[in-house]
Amino acid sequence: MADNPDDGGGPVLLLARADPQAAGSGRSRPGVKAPLLETFTRLITNTGPISVSHYMAESNAHYYGGRDPFGAAGDFITAPEISQMFGELIGLWLADIWIRAGRTEPVHYVELGPGRGTLARDALGAARRYGLDPRVHFVETSTSLKALQLEMHPQAFWHADLSTLPSDGPLLIVANEFLDALPVRQLVRTAAGWRERMVGLDEGRLVPVAGTAPMEVAVPTSRRDAPEGTILEISPASAAVVYEVAGRLATQGGAALFIDYGHAEPRFGSSLQAVRAHRKVDVFSAPGEADLTAHVDFSALAPIALSRGVRWLGTEEQGHWLRSLGIDARADALAAAAPLHAEAVRTARDRLTGEGQMGALFKVMGITAPDWPDGAGFERTD
Ligand code: SAH
Repeated sequence: MADNPDDGGGPVLLLARADPQAAGSGRSRPGVKAPLLETFTRLITNTGPISVSHYMAESNAHYYGGRDPFGAAGDFITAPEISQMFGELIGLWLADIWIRAGRTEPVHYVELGPGRGTLARDALGAARRYGLDPRVHFVETSTSLKALQLEMHPQAFWHADLSTLPSDGPLLIVANEFLDALPVRQLVRTAAGWRERMVGLDEGRLVPVAGTAPMEVAVPTSRRDAPEGTILEISPASAAVVYEVAGRLATQGGAALFIDYGHAEPRFGSSLQAVRAHRKVDVFSAPGEADLTAHVDFSALAPIALSRGVRWLGTEEQGHWLRSLGIDARADALAAAAPLHAEAVRTARDRLTGEGQMGALFKVMGITAPDWPDGAGFERTD
């Protein structure tokens, strides 16, 4: 099972309670065409299978480009949309490390893939109470989400990628559920050797197929002997983002938090999954109409950050990290201030930190400039 979650099986731990009233319930919405399915079908018919990476990149660009996917009426829900506590604690983490690093100004808050802008609102609100009032920069490609972000953050600056971010001061970078949306590349071990995993056509349906060109060179020697059928997933796009972020921190100062569902040890298998209307659906059935994500391999990202000379603070489980930052005290305070909402606040806290909920599956990776101090919530100190 772990090797093949493409089929829609297994738990979806990040999802809100499945809501059968929510539009779609994983099936095609009446009257809504799937234009990307037609485009892919034509492309594959004319030129042959496309790589999984190409498929994921195009699907997500289409998916995020034209909708607000969050919340009960959307497809999925993320930590900042569950509770304000999540963003607030991130804001406190940033303010704390910035103060201990010497309160350098100007300082820039940078969020990668900010969604509705909720995390930024809560984080900046908390940070300002401690004197951290940074300029706000969003790296976002979706036109519809940019419009939502503009409503909440009219003073922000938008960037299509990291290259245009300012270089005149430290960057405080936050990326929640951003890396998991970036395209992964998959290699599959066939009887004939390692091949690119592609998307082809079988009786009009999109299906995974193996490419024809040998791909041994792309597989680390230590992993080449894996049994037939094994899938190796790599994320060159995530690697490029972490490489760029770490390079920026090393030269201009600052800190970064990458928060995502994933693992801190290397693994085999496809972790690609598609979610629509709070349910797992087949990865290949509705390109551009479901959220495609893959587990983040934090074990591959740490060495990339270190290669740029930054400090790697560690990769902690989200539940542990939020508890170290005081989520229990914050939940008690919110509950005491609004007794009618006490139950909802505690439920949200449990959802963010619970072992069987988001607490263990989601990880927080922290990195800082070489001369910046340790960050709260990370065990590692040296
Ligand atoms: N961080 C938000 C949203 C997560 S969803 C939250 O926690 O609620 C992923 C976000 O990344 C969306 O805002 C999406 O539009 C954006 N995104 C996806 N691929 C991107 C890319 N290649 N470049 C920039 N933003 C991207």
